[in-house]
Amino acid sequence: MNGHRPRKTTTGTCCAARGSSPRCLRSALRLPGDLPLNTKEATVPRNSRRTREQSIGYDGLHATHRAEGFSLRRIKASLAFVAALAALLAAGFWLVAHTRSGQDWLLSRTAQTLFANTPIVSFDGLRVFVCGSASPLVAPGHAQACIGVLAGDDLYVVDAGMGSAGTFQFAGESLAPLRAILLTHFHSDHITGIPDMNLNSWVFGRPQPLVVMGPVGVERIVDGFNAVLAFDYGYRVAHHGAELLPPELAPLQAETLVVGVVLERDDLTITAFSVDHSPVQPAFGYRFDYRGRSVVVSGDTVVTDGLRGAARNADLLLHDALSLPIVQALQAGATNAGRARQAKIMADIPSYHAHAAQLGALAESAGVRQLALYHFVPVPRNYLLRQVFRRDLPSEAVLALDGMVFELPAGSAAIRIHEPSA
Ligand SMILES: [Zn+2]
Ligand SMILES: [Zn+2]
Repeated sequence: MNGHRPRKTTTGTCCAARGSSPRCLRSALRLPGDLPLNTKEATVPRNSRRTREQSIGYDGLHATHRAEGFSLRRIKASLAFVAALAALLAAGFWLVAHTRSGQDWLLSRTAQTLFANTPIVSFDGLRVFVCGSASPLVAPGHAQACIGVLAGDDLYVVDAGMGSAGTFQFAGESLAPLRAILLTHFHSDHITGIPDMNLNSWVFGRPQPLVVMGPVGVERIVDGFNAVLAFDYGYRVAHHGAELLPPELAPLQAETLVVGVVLERDDLTITAFSVDHSPVQPAFGYRFDYRGRSVVVSGDTVVTDGLRGAARNADLLLHDALSLPIVQALQAGATNAGRARQAKIMADIPSYHAHAAQLGALAESAGVRQLALYHFVPVPRNYLLRQVFRRDLPSEAVLALDGMVFELPAGSAAIRIHEPSA
């Protein structure tokens, strides 16, 4: 056994330098995860024929090898367990994905989970749901402009861009309590989701016709959709029956608004205010006040004093946002590639959207408690773009995502932000 040498460790040099002191050797022989060395070594008398070094060399090393053997066995056993578990999981996945009974089992479980999602139909306060964070420059997973505001039992939606009704569906949010869509203006990215919003809320059990409110001109929008959807209304009733889908709840109803208080119901007050989205006129933003809590949705606009006043001391401001550095980079890229049409579009749009870099100062000067950006131009789809959007923004500002929820409980100053579920 004297021929055994300690395993080379970083303390080997230390041992050589210190003449192989017991403490040093103990340290050198002890490996991470090893059992403690045999403590007999500490009881060997100085005048014993076996020197302390010999003692350690015999008993200590023997114990060390036993410990190493034990550790290796443990490692092998762990690896075998992991391999067996991986094989079991792989076999389970294969069975579920490639056999009819496995597929049916998973379908059944998924369907039960889907309908087990309890739709939130009431909240004591204001509950804001981001149903669309994109602009005409769309991106996967981002519907066009849409903000849902639930006040008590009533749901209002500010704008209904393409895909926005689907955001409610994907999140398991019921559209049954939808009472009205409030349009900020009539750009296509704010209205093309109206038919799906109407159909889905009808199917979910909306108890009254869906009202579409907006600036003058909203009658034409509503008349147009009703004309386009007349066949669809009839098909749905014929197929599912008038009891499930009462035909009188199918047609949209228009309500023209002017600036000022546009709705007072129970504890809720909705106020429309003018914004600057020239040449689009008129264009509105909306403020919701409910039991001491407040939310302002800007619609599409540049920063204006009127908006600053409307957002005064609001709990939450959701604001249209364009990133000038990104749009300018896109413009330069399009120009260099000879894509004159795209370059012209990029050159035009900064003049009628608020620039993200301006919004921190706006929120601060208005006394807004929480700033959130939406209607992104363009949608920041990756880390780099999000970092560019965040330039000059206060760190607490939020880049809204589809499915994100802001809760403002009544009788409280709390602002709870929930990330969208995956
Ligand atoms: Zn827009
Ligand atoms: Zn617009």
